[in-house]
Amino acid sequence: MLNLVLFGPPGAGKGTQSEMLIKTHNLVHLSTGDILRKEITNKTKLGLEAKKLMDQGILVPDNVVIGMIDSQLENNIKSNGFIFDGFPRTKEQALALDKLLLKKNTAISAMISLKVDDQELIKRLLERGEISGRSDDQNEEIISNRISEYNKKTAPLKLFYNNQQKLYEVNGLGTINDITMKVNTVINKL
Ligand code: AMP
Repeated sequence: MLNLVLFGPPGAGKGTQSEMLIKTHNLVHLSTGDILRKEITNKTKLGLEAKKLMDQGILVPDNVVIGMIDSQLENNIKSNGFIFDGFPRTKEQALALDKLLLKKNTAISAMISLKVDDQELIKRLLERGEISGRSDDQNEEIISNRISEYNKKTAPLKLFYNNQQKLYEVNGLGTINDITMKVNTVINKL
């Protein structure tokens, strides 16, 4: 199985690159952000609770997203592999993911981390907010909370995967195709 963690701050291009990669490598795309937004659209209890935090740019509790990933892994047991996009975002989530995959006799193959500077992230998120209407992409204060949550709680995961010799950094600036090519170069060497 090919199991990739597509990593990087909000606006780094994780979702866009995931869409490109799932086709080539026949993988299932698991984005906790997308799953949470679906819960919000369906007005579930979980969605309504999560929305309060998402609207402030704060992470939702670990047990909520771990439970989501657990059931998605169960639902896609025959898959060729997974792209985890926006998950894990804390050390607890990373440890839980390792355990869930181990139960399925598999493991993370690589973390591919997209590197983009803060100024470019803010520009991209505001542009995306205008197009998609996503409320957490439309307000600079929320964007800055999300970047700060990333720096505080999520960025340290690079060390976690580096210690397992699974970290690959890719420059996230350039055209979508250029970046996909660079990511594929990493994948093809795994
Ligand atoms: P994203 O679409 O990945 O940018 O996620 C949007 C928002 O959903 C984040 O700002 C968090 O509030 C929440 N979220 C998504 N994934 C996670 C996660 N793995 N852990 C905690 N919160 C998450």
